[in-house]
Amino acid sequence: MKRRDFLRASAAATALLPIRDISASTLALSRANARLPARALDGSDMTLMTADIEALAASLHGDVVLPGGADYDSARRVWNGIFDKRPALIARCSGAADVTRAVNFAREHSLLAAIRGGGHSYSGKSSCDGGIVIDLSAMRSVRVNPTQQTARVAAGTLLGQLDHETQAFGLVTPAGVISHTGAAGLTLGGGFGRLSRRFGLTCDNLLAADVVTANGDYIRASDRDNPDLFWGLRGGGGNFGVVTSFEYRLHAMAPQVLAGAVAWPFEQARDVLRFFADYSLRIPDELYLIAALLRDKNGEPFVNIGVLWSTDHAKGEQALKPLRGFGKPFRDTIAPISYVERQSQDDWTQPFGLNYYNKSGFSRELSDDALDLILDVFQSSPHPFSLFMTLEGGAIGRVAPDATAFPNRDALYWLAISGQWEDAGLSEQRIGVMRADWQRLQPLTRGFYTNSAMNESEARYRSNYGQNLPRLVALKSRYDPGNLFRLNANVAPSP
Ligand SMILES: Cc1cc2nc3c(=O)[nH]c(=O)nc-3n(C[C@H](O)[C@H](O)[C@H](O)COP(=O)(O)OP(=O)(O)OC[C@H]3O[C@@H](n4cnc5c(N)ncnc54)[C@H](O)[C@@H]3O)c2cc1C
Repeated sequence: MKRRDFLRASAAATALLPIRDISASTLALSRANARLPARALDGSDMTLMTADIEALAASLHGDVVLPGGADYDSARRVWNGIFDKRPALIARCSGAADVTRAVNFAREHSLLAAIRGGGHSYSGKSSCDGGIVIDLSAMRSVRVNPTQQTARVAAGTLLGQLDHETQAFGLVTPAGVISHTGAAGLTLGGGFGRLSRRFGLTCDNLLAADVVTANGDYIRASDRDNPDLFWGLRGGGGNFGVVTSFEYRLHAMAPQVLAGAVAWPFEQARDVLRFFADYSLRIPDELYLIAALLRDKNGEPFVNIGVLWSTDHAKGEQALKPLRGFGKPFRDTIAPISYVERQSQDDWTQPFGLNYYNKSGFSRELSDDALDLILDVFQSSPHPFSLFMTLEGGAIGRVAPDATAFPNRDALYWLAISGQWEDAGLSEQRIGVMRADWQRLQPLTRGFYTNSAMNESEARYRSNYGQNLPRLVALKSRYDPGNLFRLNANVAPSP
């Protein structure tokens, strides 16, 4: 069926099924034989019997949202507005039992399936056209065990809640820098943040996970239980099943950190970036460091270095002296601040629903030539974007590349360009420009972060997994031989 026909059929089905929670509705039995157009796992068109959807809905504690339902538009939207997908149904799960039923439904109908944790993926793969979205966003909880220094976190939990609950006990697990990001997708793909150089990636702090596999089994993965799966979950993304809860190791950390940024006029950008590259090689792991080329609200470019120091403040002041004394900055906001507050300070820069695009990769050094190229690409681009260089290394690099599925352990910098715009009509043009700009920068990188990838080819994903690929393929063949979970940084099972 052509897309136009699919949409028309979808509209017809919408007229048949204008309901949100069919478990609680009075769906007329005479409609039980009606069919809803859908998209199969292999991409072909198919139909679903409304009776089957009704049975699924009746079996859930959560609800099923269908096209035409009052919540459909809000339930189908994801953070990145460039993806405007229309699933055939959204199963809003309330717990592992619902997830198991939704996974069984998808597998039994060979239905395209997307997994949604926090809904924050750049790639929009937590939604889909015509398939089922297994939506975990209602499953939010954090239970801290202060004695054992662990936290059990449900799969729809956002980072802000995780930080809020753990810091109440003076504890923390390293996670991302925007508090409305989901813990699930972030952890499964790796998880970088302001504490990673000190405590490792989020996935390095994962102790166990509860997983619903493609055949509907509910199993635990940890060093002791299904250790092969546990290895794959730490960097292999959503390839192997739906994780319903995560257990993290927590670290003691005082709630007040030293954080902020120093900013210089753009004329000093070349010197500041050279300073950044040199300084980054001699600072302790306790210091988070990110250089950025940004524009102010009038479009004027400037260079910015953000920091966070998470141990003794006097030592932090010492470590930060060279940075704060460099050149002639026009702003210095570094000061004591609560970690939880710092973790949400930048949330406003990434609002839900705008159109976003980014390209990024890992690099191992910042030579003079590299810095010149970076500055040239930033300045000469016809459309403004932000450019970031985040220092990696530290505890991230002390984990062997094959100790978890996350491969890029030797990266020293994460280089990224990131653009956002309101008008969807600009998307094609803006994306085209950013792709061209990135083509110039990509040679500075080797490997990329799957969690910030947009639409990489299967070959690029395979090569990015590097030496871990054969083990990932073996795991995929064991836990998801039909590739039910394919909307991700996909590892295809062996034929
Ligand atoms: C504004 C912003 C800031 C970010 N900052 C950081 C950062 O600081 N550090 C960092 O490391 N990353 C960061 N990211 C990237 C982030 O890690 C990914 O976008 C991640 O996918 C978000 O997870 P989510 O659960 O919100 O995503 P979703 O869109 O819900 O899920 C993304 C994918 O993860 C998989 N998935 C999600 N939940 C599950 C589950 N329970 N079981 C199995 N598979 C699942 C699915 O394949 C899904 O397609 C940021 C992203 C954004 C948009």
